[in-house]
Amino acid sequence: MLRPSAHSRRLVPTRRGLVALAVLAVGVIVLGDLAIRLAPAGTHVAAWWPAAGLAVAVGVRFGRRGLPWAAVVTYGASVVANQLGGRPLDTTLLFSLANTLEVLVTASLVLRWVGRRPMLTVRDLSGVVAATLLGAGAAGAVAAVAVGMHTDGSWWVTARAVSTSHFSAVLLFLPFALERERRRPRARRLEVVLTGSGLALLTVALFAPHQSLPVVFMLFPLLVVTAFRQTLRTCALQLVVVNTVATVATSLGWGPIHAAVSVSGIPLETAGAVLQALIASSAATVYVLRVSVETRLQALADADRARRHLGAVIDAAPSTAIIQTDLDGVIRVFNAGAVNLLGYPAEDVVGKHTPELFVAREELRQRAEDVGVTRGFEAMVHTVRTGLLESDRRDWTYVTAAGVRRRVSQVVSRVDDADGTPMGFLAIAEDVETQRRVEQLLVQSLEQERALAERLRAADALKSDFVTSVSHELRTPMTSVLGYSELLVDDFGDVLGPGGRPIVERIQANGRRLLALVDDLLTLSRLESGSLTLKHEPFEVAWVARSAVAVLQPLARASDIGLALHLPEESTTVQGDPQEMERVLINLLSNAVKFPPAHGRIDLTVRRRDLWSLEVEVRDTGVGIPAADLDKVFTRFHRASNVVESQAQGTGLGLAIVKAIVAKHGGTLSVESELSRGSTFVLALPTTVAPELPADAPAPMDTSEMRDVVRRVAQQMASGTRARPSALTGLEQPDQPQQHEQPQQATGS
Ligand code: ADP
Repeated sequence: MLRPSAHSRRLVPTRRGLVALAVLAVGVIVLGDLAIRLAPAGTHVAAWWPAAGLAVAVGVRFGRRGLPWAAVVTYGASVVANQLGGRPLDTTLLFSLANTLEVLVTASLVLRWVGRRPMLTVRDLSGVVAATLLGAGAAGAVAAVAVGMHTDGSWWVTARAVSTSHFSAVLLFLPFALERERRRPRARRLEVVLTGSGLALLTVALFAPHQSLPVVFMLFPLLVVTAFRQTLRTCALQLVVVNTVATVATSLGWGPIHAAVSVSGIPLETAGAVLQALIASSAATVYVLRVSVETRLQALADADRARRHLGAVIDAAPSTAIIQTDLDGVIRVFNAGAVNLLGYPAEDVVGKHTPELFVAREELRQRAEDVGVTRGFEAMVHTVRTGLLESDRRDWTYVTAAGVRRRVSQVVSRVDDADGTPMGFLAIAEDVETQRRVEQLLVQSLEQERALAERLRAADALKSDFVTSVSHELRTPMTSVLGYSELLVDDFGDVLGPGGRPIVERIQANGRRLLALVDDLLTLSRLESGSLTLKHEPFEVAWVARSAVAVLQPLARASDIGLALHLPEESTTVQGDPQEMERVLINLLSNAVKFPPAHGRIDLTVRRRDLWSLEVEVRDTGVGIPAADLDKVFTRFHRASNVVESQAQGTGLGLAIVKAIVAKHGGTLSVESELSRGSTFVLALPTTVAPELPADAPAPMDTSEMRDVVRRVAQQMASGTRARPSALTGLEQPDQPQQHEQPQQATGS
């Protein structure tokens, strides 16, 4: 009805709002004029002022912010109505002020206390009645001042008459300003029409001319029926009709109220006030009844919903028997779970039997003896009936309809009503036999699984032992073969002649590959069995990275691959074994060098990941790994299909070793790769707090060492193996036969 103004934050009425204001203006003028004209001769105030009801109703519809609009229009229209009704200007202005004040007071209090929700609770009703009383009281007070100031009328009689006439008007009109009730009325339209016209006719009859018997109470039965079966708005509408008829009749000097007032000699205003008091009390009674009916209906609906919900819950437990009995033990509820467990249809037992029917006789007898009772059912519930226990849980043997015995765990408790009076008993039982059988099966299968895991562990240990001892046994003859073949080339080269030398060199190359494989196997099985103990000391990953790059740099250069190292400024200290970490980086770098396209590029980057870990990344632009092989490259002996096709040498053990070493450092290793574009291996390691890396940290290898390394790696690449020199432990000369006696120095993947 209102919207914000385009230019300011003021609210202006919408088209509907303007129509409502126009209706208000016309309504107040017409109703006001009529009411003044119908006022009993010689009185200062109208018997009923329906314009007040209309104005307050429109005010409530307009809401708190639009209320001033309704107030202004009420004032203007009241002035017009009073002037048309022939009242003097000074009285007109004060009466109009009374009407406006009432709109402001009542509507704002209703909006604050009740809002516009339908009047469904006693609290809402009290709010509406209180607001209406205060508003009507304010109007009565201002009107009394007006009459006292400008006429010779009694201010008290005026105040009383105005207050009651306004109170009944507002009380009858307000339901039209509130929202409709959501619940459908129980009365059909025909019933509404019949009771409405019945009420109107009865009112006409009761307020007919010369009707002096005070039989207005005959209206009450019909009003009460209305309250029980119809909506609040219909009740209010019927009261409006009754009041209109009664007011017009009383103003014309008809009906029992006018008769009673005129014979008693009290002021004529009192006739209107008595009538309005009668109507207002009827309205209040009807509203109270309406609200209490509504509250009951709501409570019934809630109870019904709760009952359905409970029923659904009870039936949703198909493996739990829920049986409720009355105090004598007669079954009242027998849920789906009970039917499933016991095999009796519910209709065969509900209202006909007690739970004794299902319980093994000898158990009942024994229990009855124990608790000192004679009846079987009493034996089941005695402890909870006497209040000894709140709930009694024990195992019973149920006998089903088919005669099968089933062990159940049953909890019995007493059911009391809202006042605490015992109503019956509730037994909840579960078939523990099935449950226990399932538990047993579970324990058995867990046991089997544990034994299987034990056997697998033993087989794995056996396999590791086997690999270790075979590798050991192979290593000694292999180093001997290599040593002697090198001796053959060095010392008996002349005897071998040009045809023999390549053969012996072939023996050497394959011997080295075999030795590398044996060493990898040994390392892996030691790592897995835990017999290879790593150091646990702080070291700088940056140093290890520098050393690994130094080892591989010459080889990369020879293959025309750019190898760059990127180190962070801050400390890169981790705890662990620097030599093993170097083995890791050399393995990753030598893979990157081994699987490159020509003119490729390798970047080794060390960076801090967060406060607790750092990251070592080896990124190459090599052949990449097919997506199907990506998650298998860390598995022993797995080599990607593209590498196998290209016949590149290798054992497929390097990454498995790398992963095991990284895991022993508490780190993780991951890979991302795109075929023909390159691979990125990322190593995450937990850091320790350590001093900053000294600026003058010594290079871990001198140039001559580096030269040796390069020579050795180049040799091994040529013969299909990968070098495993250790810059941190020192290097051995490749041309000395005894180097092969040192297993740590000839590792490859
Ligand atoms: P090897 O290098 O002896 O084959 P690894 O365990 O070191 O064994 O590597 C396993 C497989 O992972 C390799 O055969 C290869 O298919 C793939 N791989 C490892 N590193 C790379 C890389 N940088 N580029 C492409 N493929 C790689």
